[in-house]
Amino acid sequence: MREGTVPTHRQIASHIDPTLAPAYGLAVLHALEAAGHEAWFVGGWVRDALRGEPAHDVDVCTSATWQQTERALEAAGIEAHETGIQHGTVTAVVGGRPVETTTYRIDGAYTDQRHPDSVTFVTDVREDLARRDFTVNAMAWHPERGLLDPFGGREDLELGVIRAVGEPAVRFGEDALRVLRAVRFACRLGFAIEPATQRALVDAAPELAHVARERVGAELRGIVNSGRCAWALRNEFEVMAAAIPAIGRMRGFAQRSPYHSYDALEHTARVVAGIECFAGGVVSERLRWAALLHDIGKPACFTVDVNGQGHFYGHPHEGAVMSVHILRELAIPLELSRQIVALVRLHDRPMKASAPSELRLVADLARRSGLRTRAEVVELMHEMFDLRRSDAIAKAPQCRAYATELNGHERLFRRIVAEGGCWSMGDLAVSGGDVMSACDIAPGPAVGDALRAALDAVIAGHVPNNREALLSFLRKLF
Ligand code: ATP
Ligand code: MG
Repeated sequence: MREGTVPTHRQIASHIDPTLAPAYGLAVLHALEAAGHEAWFVGGWVRDALRGEPAHDVDVCTSATWQQTERALEAAGIEAHETGIQHGTVTAVVGGRPVETTTYRIDGAYTDQRHPDSVTFVTDVREDLARRDFTVNAMAWHPERGLLDPFGGREDLELGVIRAVGEPAVRFGEDALRVLRAVRFACRLGFAIEPATQRALVDAAPELAHVARERVGAELRGIVNSGRCAWALRNEFEVMAAAIPAIGRMRGFAQRSPYHSYDALEHTARVVAGIECFAGGVVSERLRWAALLHDIGKPACFTVDVNGQGHFYGHPHEGAVMSVHILRELAIPLELSRQIVALVRLHDRPMKASAPSELRLVADLARRSGLRTRAEVVELMHEMFDLRRSDAIAKAPQCRAYATELNGHERLFRRIVAEGGCWSMGDLAVSGGDVMSACDIAPGPAVGDALRAALDAVIAGHVPNNREALLSFLRKLF
């Protein structure tokens, strides 16, 4: 049986204690009821409250039309915004907390696998629950009427399974994004995917190619940030490869190298899992993406030498170029993407336990990541150490010693930082103005060249970072 497919029985509450319901959500519910409509909490809040985590934001569904919802909220003095009236959604805001309030509806046909062509408003909440993706997401709750669970969502929470509502193949056929959502919820909750749902999901995975890339990106971020992406790579390879086609080439990609005991996919899964341990609890999204993408360029760079050994010359560069493209398509914010790509680009750059070597790496990391403050760059550099440690222990056994060596490298880096080490032009003890007057250079690119030369000399340890020494170095140079 595949790893992670054994359902485990969990302690799930038999009912939700009404005192757990947040006041801002209840205010919306009561406003609708006071106007004579029916209303329920639905979706993520109900799921997570049963799991003992009632912190999820509240979504409400109601028999009221969006116009009636607006009127009811107004009568109760609650702010309302028309955030999706074509789908029946009005967002109420209570004490600064938004509550999406949506009319009971069923989705029409999905001809483009993206959006329902139309939605039809209905009067029975059960019909609304039936259009939802998974049983654990298809429950409604009311402080007096209690739990409404027509598809056995509570029991599936106990079993720890993600199960499609209705016929899985039909549901994935309507909206292929649900394939990725299933994996996201399995990762987030640490659940298995129910076998029939799993079979349908693998069949439907190629249809993800027709789903808008930014929708795919949003779900992938959820998978990456669950901290269980290694599980997804190993158990939901078809889905991950459909979401990021370059991953498809990694499975079975024998590296033919004494440095690698695993194929590119298993190596990546191990690095992805490794950072969760090394980073010690709070792992940044950029490190998670960098671990996932660090070797994505390998298959494209593979060569075999005369001795039959595999090499991947240039794979960090190729991987960085591919990552830029992949992350842009997925609509990952540009700043985040630059930091991820900098980690990918430099993950394999040779580094010795010497100040110049470390300074060169951190200088490059600072420049490529676009991060401005020293504190931010230092943090990213520590993440680089975690990435390298994870990379080392995911290779062949004889490479693992490098992970320990890195501890020494990182100690040296801490010392460099504590001693005010210089790795950017802004850290130099001279400014552009100093350079112009001391070396008689006119404003223009030559000033930057001079500062760069000064920085290189300081990083190499040839000149100390003080004003007098730098100016005399520059005078000699120009
Ligand atoms: P979270 O936002 O914490 O990831 P959630 O349950 O709130 O979890 P959303 O993606 O915000 O998930 O969706 C809200 C609810 O809408 C879901 O619980 C589900 O019932 C329904 N839903 C969302 N997207 C789909 C979809 N593509 N197909 C069917 N139902 C969906
Ligand atoms: Mg949500």
